[in-house]
Amino acid sequence: MALIVQKYGGTSVGNLDRIRNVARRVANSYDDGNDVVVVLSAMSGVTDNLLDLAHQASETPCKREMDVLLSTGEQTTVSLMAITLQEMGYKAESLLGFQADIQTDDSAGKARIMTIGAERIKTLLEARKIVVVAGFQGMDSAGNITTLGRGGSDTSAVAIAAAIKADSCEIYTDVDGIYTTDPRICDKARKLEKISYDEMLEMASLGAKVLQIRSVGFAKKYNVPIHVRSSFNEEVGTMVVNEDSGMEQLLVSGVTLDKNEARITVKRVPDQPGVSAKIFSPLAEKGIQVDMIIQNTRSDGETDLTFTVTKTDFREAIEITKRVAEKMGGKEVLVADDIAKVSVIGVGMKNHSGVASRMFQALADENINIRLITTSEIRISCVIDERYAELAVRVLHDAFELDTL
Ligand code: ASP
Ligand code: MG
Repeated sequence: MALIVQKYGGTSVGNLDRIRNVARRVANSYDDGNDVVVVLSAMSGVTDNLLDLAHQASETPCKREMDVLLSTGEQTTVSLMAITLQEMGYKAESLLGFQADIQTDDSAGKARIMTIGAERIKTLLEARKIVVVAGFQGMDSAGNITTLGRGGSDTSAVAIAAAIKADSCEIYTDVDGIYTTDPRICDKARKLEKISYDEMLEMASLGAKVLQIRSVGFAKKYNVPIHVRSSFNEEVGTMVVNEDSGMEQLLVSGVTLDKNEARITVKRVPDQPGVSAKIFSPLAEKGIQVDMIIQNTRSDGETDLTFTVTKTDFREAIEITKRVAEKMGGKEVLVADDIAKVSVIGVGMKNHSGVASRMFQALADENINIRLITTSEIRISCVIDERYAELAVRVLHDAFELDTL
């Protein structure tokens, strides 16, 4: 008998039929003798609708009230789930974030979980009740309702699993696991049996949106194994766990694609100390995150600086950069948003050489020009022209033989 946290996403609880379906799964696990805590998202689309309503009511809705509003999506699903379970003859009780004693900091809309007082959940479990907790929400020290940022129910589930020392944390979603790449782009994509926290962190931040990235950080810190699987079938999904020696034998575990960045080049600024600081400080002050940077020094005492920002920040970044470049005597600012970033990820890179060269060769063989490169210990990313994005993903998937491993 185990202590299990099961989290179901918006599609899995999207209507009453699906809620009944989830309730049966929960009940099966309970009937097997397990203690079950269920964490739920809002029905799919509901959080977006609430956001939309608030923005119709005001262009700049107050963040505190936004959190009061957004948290209602999960309030709806947990109560409906408890009612459904009771109707099926089970003892179930729903808890909102504050009732489950999920304490957060006070950054409305993107609050971080500080502590969870597991007592109330434990007491209910001891009475053999199924506990249904609202994901995505908590309470700050002043007693205000807070929310954890989009996709935050994943983090609620992992944090609760850590707090009650659950044996496993199952994240049920509308895909049946983590794939070597996006199956919609590459039909040879294969479901991974397991993946390390660090690889998952790289994948999540690069646009594989299965888990909220913060939940993976949490899982790593508290060593909570996550089982990502589908709520629509019984198949085993993908385990997200600590790195083990078997994982290092693979060179690469996955290929990701991110079309959400845009590129800015400042041509011919003086090659002097302080130039980068002058360009990047004003961007940082506006909260604009710069991802990749390269500098090409010319022979004439000048240099070209190229960097990427997200498409959302692109316009503002162009304005700021033009202003700064002009002041510094920069000759030209070039911009492009038809770019894509392809990355290969794998903990095996730490101990194997030749991954980068294999990646570059595979792209070269298809005549795909690499415009920017960045790396981390377990990732190599290349910016290429957007029109080659899907091709590049397939080529790299083949080059690292990801379909056969
Ligand atoms: N309902 C929230 C959202 O849509 C939280 C979640 O689903 O995890 O972002
Ligand atoms: Mg989600």
